[in-house]
Amino acid sequence: MVRNPQDSFTINPIFARPGEVDSVDKYILPKESMLPETAYQIVHDESMLDGNARLNLATFVSTFMDPQADKLYAEAYDKNAIDKDEYPQTAAMETYCWRMLADLWHAPDPANAIGCSTTGSSEACMLGGLALKRRWQEKRKAAGKPSDKPNLVMSSAVQVCWEKFCNYFDVEARYVPISLEHKVLDGFGLEAYLDENTIGVVAIMGVTYTGMYEPVKKIAKVLDDFEKKTGLDIMIHVDGASGAMIAPFVQPTLVWDFKIPRVTSINTSGHKYGLVYPGLGWVVWRSADLLPDSLVFKVSYLGGEMPTFALNFSRPGAQILLQYWAFLRYGYAGYKAVQTATMKVARYLADEIAKFEPFDLWNEPTDIPVFAWMLKPDPNRNWTLYDLSDRLRMQGWQIPAYPMPTDLTNLTVQRIVVRNGLSLDLAARLIDDIRAQISHLNNMGCKLPDRKDAVFHH
Ligand SMILES: *Cc1c(COP(=O)(O)O)cnc(C)c1O
Repeated sequence: MVRNPQDSFTINPIFARPGEVDSVDKYILPKESMLPETAYQIVHDESMLDGNARLNLATFVSTFMDPQADKLYAEAYDKNAIDKDEYPQTAAMETYCWRMLADLWHAPDPANAIGCSTTGSSEACMLGGLALKRRWQEKRKAAGKPSDKPNLVMSSAVQVCWEKFCNYFDVEARYVPISLEHKVLDGFGLEAYLDENTIGVVAIMGVTYTGMYEPVKKIAKVLDDFEKKTGLDIMIHVDGASGAMIAPFVQPTLVWDFKIPRVTSINTSGHKYGLVYPGLGWVVWRSADLLPDSLVFKVSYLGGEMPTFALNFSRPGAQILLQYWAFLRYGYAGYKAVQTATMKVARYLADEIAKFEPFDLWNEPTDIPVFAWMLKPDPNRNWTLYDLSDRLRMQGWQIPAYPMPTDLTNLTVQRIVVRNGLSLDLAARLIDDIRAQISHLNNMGCKLPDRKDAVFHH
């Protein structure tokens, strides 16, 4: 029997079909179509070469949600968050979420707070920074003073989004270097960086490099004293990308949020310890007057208009539904339970890692469930943390090593981020693997080449 050549697409076994038997062009749009299942198989197979997300202990971003969330996601992936008029309930759920956050973070009057969702903390930080800048400019203009040289003061260990903010929006970045005595921005020496052009100070709740909290209250005290001396009223934006969803549950008595009058805005990543899949952040201002009107645009909503503040126009609405689902599903008690369990795993890992002879902990996982460690100096050791990172990668674990920021760039650390989904049992397997790899590296005769080429994706 002679087959119609067209049949070969549907009858041939999947890996013997055109498309699968030929190699596909990566950089030129293919001339012809292919079957959807063939295209699926090609994309699916290439993505198998990515790391296993659950074993990625480099990322802060959620890699686990309950099956009901997966279902909700699949039901909502076609919703555009900006179409407030078409999807008014998605818009309503966005408001429920930031209102809950305003309340959780002790806004004095949550009904009079203002906030929004974003694609992540990066966009949320940009919005927080833009509000600081515009407020400062408007105040300067009203006083008849120049407003062309704004600066923002922060630790040298800020996340890269703050460098981007300063670069993209023409703000001078003033970095306060960290040191062995001052591992975070703690107010020490801060005054020297402040002047009438300072639009604000960033305080980080959960420094990306190490997971440590910056003492927001102490920083505010320095700014209070500075105001008494100079009359300059400098506000704080708290970058709570991770910590703003840990501290309320794990350290409920720590004062870091809107309880401090100087804290004007707070951001968090819904997709970090907010326990939602990637693509979601939040920013909240303590009261609506702190977000200058001149930054707000209107989109149509139920025949009227709705104010919006965002860098993007279209973006997925599904993550907003997932956040609302997570808030309902966990509640305060559930978040507390999840974050406490995560802290316990971090504690276990840090204790075990501290027991290994070559290591010293840089910090204890007492703030967010993140910690870093370094190698004890030993002239006879012929391996580095980069080598250990490579060896662990062979087992599937992704545990980055990287240099610390200014003024500690000659110090290399390795960091673990513990997230919901890394069970104590899996953590024990990791310790077994670290032990085996240390032993392997110790027994290797030759000196490995120096590795200064690693880039830290902070
Ligand atoms: C992760 C992180 C960011 C950036 O957040 P994204 O949600 O990844 O955009 C900003 N600041 C800190 C402290 C972070 O940990």
